[in-house]
Amino acid sequence: MPTQVTAAVMTKSGQPLDLRPVILDDPLDHEVLVRTLAAGLCHSDLHYLDGSLEIELPAILGHEVVGTVERVGAAVSGLKIGDRVVATVTPACGLCRQCLAGRPTQCMRVDQMRARPRPKFMTTDGEPINALGGIGAFAEAFVVSEASLGVIDDAIPAKVACLLGCCVTTGVGAAIHGARVTAEDTVAVIGCGGVGIAAIQGARLAGARKVVAVDTSEQKLELAKRFGATDGVVAQREAVETLELLRAIEPEGFTHTIEAVGRAATAELAFNALGAAGTATILGLMPADTALRISADALVYGDRRIQGAYMGANRFLSDVDIFTDHYRSGRLNLDDMVTQARTFSSINEGFAAMTDPTTVRVVVEFEDAAS
Ligand SMILES: [Zn+2]
Ligand SMILES: [Zn+2]
Repeated sequence: MPTQVTAAVMTKSGQPLDLRPVILDDPLDHEVLVRTLAAGLCHSDLHYLDGSLEIELPAILGHEVVGTVERVGAAVSGLKIGDRVVATVTPACGLCRQCLAGRPTQCMRVDQMRARPRPKFMTTDGEPINALGGIGAFAEAFVVSEASLGVIDDAIPAKVACLLGCCVTTGVGAAIHGARVTAEDTVAVIGCGGVGIAAIQGARLAGARKVVAVDTSEQKLELAKRFGATDGVVAQREAVETLELLRAIEPEGFTHTIEAVGRAATAELAFNALGAAGTATILGLMPADTALRISADALVYGDRRIQGAYMGANRFLSDVDIFTDHYRSGRLNLDDMVTQARTFSSINEGFAAMTDPTTVRVVVEFEDAAS
């Protein structure tokens, strides 16, 4: 029997989300119905909401989420009712060439795995509603394939556990899987939102000898130092001026840069701040027609590299365990990343708070979610 749940529905870009009842379909054989406990507000959600990234409407945004398994499909084998789970937008089949090569975020069957004979969510009038990333976490419950979920320890508070689904996976993952930072490295992280702060923590966890935070807000840079940044640079209006400030800290250029903003200018800055043989890792999502301009000479003569690390090139199931252990031992600070927790019913105010320079992550908690 399909369930009625309250969801925050996006009907038009630039408009507040509309909290209203929607119909959630039953889980199919390989799917699970998850009761939502907490969801993070990611900049990707904000970019869909303000229209800078495109999405088919109406839609339910939200992809950084923790919840409790409430129902399981007939063929689900790895999860049981009551499990606390974190979702990922990159489910992996485990069988294709990319999965077998250890690159599950590039799974070749991801579309097949998300394919479904009917929509997950519908309006009460029967109109289909799109679910962002195949999840749609800004709802009291959602349905996803078993492969999209990792089980976590109940002892991790829901308010911080949701971060494992996107910003921590992407940021820490970029440092340890994408860039493969070591104790020899000097790292600059451009952008200090949730992903950037997680990348700073990832670089620190990996032992980098310098971790330089770059952000337009001085307050953010102070905050970044609490998470392991050794220096901070205020991003200037002109990228060339920011580059000069970075050069003052690291005259040879950095061995690694990690871009966590999602703009061509910051991606190009990430490349330009590299020393010889350095690698720029670009994380931010940009509009589909975005092109980057980099110097061919700097690339070829300098043995420089520029790469993506979509969702932190994660191996979600093992990453969740790695991050959990680092959180438990106090080496990964998730608690201070949640700078604002509020109720799901005030999600629109949560999006408004994202522009505050002291915000790292806003998390919405679901009213009846007993964590
Ligand atoms: Zn995200
Ligand atoms: Zn695959």
